[in-house]
Amino acid sequence: MRHSCVPLHTGARGLTRSARRLRRHRFPLEKRSLKRGALRECGRRCVYCARALSWFTLTLDHILPRAHGGQNDFGNVVAACASCNSIKGDLLPHEFFFRCPWAGLNFLRYARCAHRVHKRSARRAVSLAYAVAA
Ligand SMILES: [Zn+2]
Repeated sequence: MRHSCVPLHTGARGLTRSARRLRRHRFPLEKRSLKRGALRECGRRCVYCARALSWFTLTLDHILPRAHGGQNDFGNVVAACASCNSIKGDLLPHEFFFRCPWAGLNFLRYARCAHRVHKRSARRAVSLAYAVAA
């Protein structure tokens, strides 16, 4: 990716590889690029109900909610439709997946970019939900 907005004397080219990596972590990703990445990584679908999404119907969902200290970064941000996003609200991922195991199953299938910690907790919550229901 080109950084055309960076002044020449502080251009990315002048930084070492590790400095560049640090810089990327210090500043949260720009919302637009986060949105673009989430849409692509989640197969242009809502990761919870698998409904097809476009740029305009997409909302960004924080798997671990911001209110619980979730980061605004890949691994914690997935594409979701507005209705799933409002169902989930500020629930922790395992609470949400326990209540809505169908969402957990779709999440495991479509949320490629989600951090493996979230996938593990989703898998556990879904199997727990089915065990309780059985
Ligand atoms: Zn949805």
